[in-house]
Amino acid sequence: MSENKQITVTAPLLPSLDDFNELLKDIWQRKWITNNGHYHKALEQALCEYLKVPYISLFTNGTLPLITALQALRVTGEVITTPFSFVATTHSIWWNGIKPVFVDIDESNCGIDPDRIEAAITPQTTAIMPVHCYGKPCDTKRIQEIADKYGLKVIYDAAHAFGVEVNGESVLNAGDMSTLSFHATKVYNTIEGGALVMHDEQMKRRIDYLKNFGFAGETEVVAPGINSKMDEMRAAYGLLSLNIVDDSIKARQAVAVRYREVLKDVKGIRFFDDMPGVKHNYSYFPIFVKAEEYGMTRDELYFKMKEHNVLGRRYFYPLISTFSTYRGLPSAAVENLPVATRIANEVICLPMHHELSEDDLNRVIDIIVNKK
Ligand SMILES: *Cc1c(COP(=O)(O)O)cnc(C)c1O
Repeated sequence: MSENKQITVTAPLLPSLDDFNELLKDIWQRKWITNNGHYHKALEQALCEYLKVPYISLFTNGTLPLITALQALRVTGEVITTPFSFVATTHSIWWNGIKPVFVDIDESNCGIDPDRIEAAITPQTTAIMPVHCYGKPCDTKRIQEIADKYGLKVIYDAAHAFGVEVNGESVLNAGDMSTLSFHATKVYNTIEGGALVMHDEQMKRRIDYLKNFGFAGETEVVAPGINSKMDEMRAAYGLLSLNIVDDSIKARQAVAVRYREVLKDVKGIRFFDDMPGVKHNYSYFPIFVKAEEYGMTRDELYFKMKEHNVLGRRYFYPLISTFSTYRGLPSAAVENLPVATRIANEVICLPMHHELSEDDLNRVIDIIVNKK
């Protein structure tokens, strides 16, 4: 086993360079390189079919759809969200001048705990922004019941949930809108990129205006929009990636199966099994280290892996609620977030991508099992 080769937590899914060159030649001939061009339209249509969603709008990254969804739904006041996510989730709320209210998570899926949402609702609350953390679906039914009871919007940060289905239905169809990230590190990428999924044509039109400065025609601006359009090169790249993403997800599934086989016998290491009725995308493989049972803390294991050139990631540590912008909020108090605080100190996401070899996996497993 070559100890020196670095094993990274993820690897970008790259389409064939020859195929990409062909599409680039076509774009050069069309001389239309952005602004809802041929490949932009083609990718929106292909994604609707692949993801089983009625409407989608492409974006230049996965953060701007979060910001834009809040704008489009005219969300104000307070938004209930999870501290256990990538910072962009809470930043999107802050950028809209809205106060984020953190609610603790459920350790069975690392998503917002529906049992704790109602207690956080105030007269200022207008929306809930949950995250399908690691692509594990939130309890969308319960969240919708609460939202309906209090007249709240629900925007899912579904950056991890590309292609995830529950009983044959896309998880992206839950709530008012769902956002996706197509960043290089995700299961499906367009280098940088993202999207908003919505339920009706009217909202699709409104979002398309908002991502293009609010232009609703050559001379009419209907809203204070932003520029968050995806260009033709990345849309073409995305079309090619879509052809290979299923094979990549299959390869990831095999990695998950292998990890589970071995780790089930390691005391003090918890991990997720597949959920019944759920089509997973194997975007991440988080393990949770119980230091007392395992005999080593999470950080000891994390740095041990690093010594061996195996790079896990502590997603999500530190919690968003501990960053300087947010730590002064009453809901950021540790006492309010006991589960998220504990999980943030237990988690390591193991290397998980389509190019991990048998040797790579053996190296990762060897460190965890033998602790040296
Ligand atoms: C990656 C990610 C984002 C941001 O996406 P970008 O494409 O990097 O802007 C937002 N939320 C979550 C949960 C993410 O993992």
